[in-house]
Amino acid sequence: MAEILPGIHQVEGVDPSPDFSTHVYLLKDKGPTWTLLDTGLPGASTATLAYLAKIKVEPTAIKRILLTHLHRDHTGSLRAMAEKTHARTFAHWIEAAYIANAPKYDGPGSPPAEPFVVDETFKDGDTIDAGGGLIAYHTPGHTPGHTAYYQAEHKLLFSGDLFFGDGEKVLLTPPDFTLHTPTAQISARRMSQLAVTSLLTYHGGPVLKNGGAAVRSLVQGFPH
Ligand SMILES: [Zn+2]
Repeated sequence: MAEILPGIHQVEGVDPSPDFSTHVYLLKDKGPTWTLLDTGLPGASTATLAYLAKIKVEPTAIKRILLTHLHRDHTGSLRAMAEKTHARTFAHWIEAAYIANAPKYDGPGSPPAEPFVVDETFKDGDTIDAGGGLIAYHTPGHTPGHTAYYQAEHKLLFSGDLFFGDGEKVLLTPPDFTLHTPTAQISARRMSQLAVTSLLTYHGGPVLKNGGAAVRSLVQGFPH
């Protein structure tokens, strides 16, 4: 059962290996439609489409695909899923440029497998009519235009690669894969001020209860 919270599914079968978890989330919208949050590595679309069939959701019921950032393990199946669903695709305006390979991303971590031009770009604080209403928070550091998505009604934070789940704790994603760790710390401090019950991380975790406390515990250890 991969409906981890009411209306929130963690898509099964997209992990490239047992020790490298990639949590692609499927969010029920207020009406009959759905939202996909990140897409996994190239090839992960096969598992996502199989999962949709299993839960009896037509691919075309997905109306929006939201991206947290440019890295290949998040955007690798973007084109495949966009073609199967005809969904509108969304990214922060900075990240959208790198996803389009204009310019090519030269920071740490794998760049997109192929260029893709998203349909809609947003800026910090914009609301997106998806998944019951989301606020897009620009959370740079891991990448320049990294975005976390906050669902206020149920106090959910989809944190992309800002945080890395470690059991009931969270860490920042390691510096080897991060553009600028002090900036990620600033983003983490900002997110620690949100009321969060469930922290939906992309790698490791998620922390379904006391996610906000896990974030506050992390940021207390940062240098002042
Ligand atoms: Zn990443």
